[in-house]
Amino acid sequence: MIPLRRIPLSADAEKLLTKWTGRVSTEGGTSKTARELWRNAHTPKRRVRDALEPMARGNVRCMYCDDSRATDIDHFQPIEKAPLRTFDWANHLLACSYCNSNAKRELYPVDHSGTCLLIDPTAEDPADHLMLLLLSGEYVPVKNSPKGQQTIEVFGLNRRELVKGRLDAFDRACSNIRDWHLLVQDSDAHADRVARALLDSPFIDVVHAMTRLKPTVAPKVVGPRTVAALDAWRSAHGF
Ligand SMILES: [Zn+2]
Repeated sequence: MIPLRRIPLSADAEKLLTKWTGRVSTEGGTSKTARELWRNAHTPKRRVRDALEPMARGNVRCMYCDDSRATDIDHFQPIEKAPLRTFDWANHLLACSYCNSNAKRELYPVDHSGTCLLIDPTAEDPADHLMLLLLSGEYVPVKNSPKGQQTIEVFGLNRRELVKGRLDAFDRACSNIRDWHLLVQDSDAHADRVARALLDSPFIDVVHAMTRLKPTVAPKVVGPRTVAALDAWRSAHGF
C-alpha cells in the first residue's frame, strides 16, 4: 500500500453526487435505500470511476493490495455503516474484487473513540503505520500500530499469493533497476521504456519500499550490485 493523491472532483461531478446524496436522505437515509440507489446510479458511478482511475498507480491497480487490476469502487466507510456517504467522493477508492468483496466487505474497525483503524491511502501515508519487509514479502505494523495491524488483517495484506508476488516483484525490480541504470549510463533512450514498464507493473509498493530504504540498510537488502542503480533510480523516480 502506497500513498495516493486524491484529485479534486470536477464541479459538475461534485454537484451530481450531492444531488444523489439528497435522494438518499429524502428517501429515508437507510443503507437499504442507499444500496439500491447506488446500484442504479450509472452516471455517478461512471464519473467516480473516471476520476479514480488516474489516481491509481500502474495499470489501474487495486489501491489496497497493489496487485490485481482495480475493478470495484469501494466505499471506504461501508454503505451499511454510513449510507449518507454513499455518494461522498472522499469515501470512494478503487479496489480489486478480492480486497473489496472477500477481504474488506463491510468491515470498518474503530478504536474506543470511534476513529477508523484502517488506512486510507488517499488520506494518509501508509508508511506511518505499515512497513514492507522486502526480504520476506510481508507487511508488519510500525511500532505495533493498531491501525497497521488492523489494515493487514482486514485487507489480508499477508495472504500467501501477495507475499509470493512481492518476493518475485522484488527480484524483478532489482534486475530492472540495474538494467535501467546501465541504459541511462549509455544515454540509451530505451531506459525510459524500462522505467515505465517497472512503474506500471503490479506490486509498485515493492519499488516504493526500495526507494525508501535507509542508505545504511540498502546494501544489505538489495545487495551491493544494485545499490548504485537504486540511488540513481531514487533521484530520477523517487516517490
Ligand atoms: Zn486488492
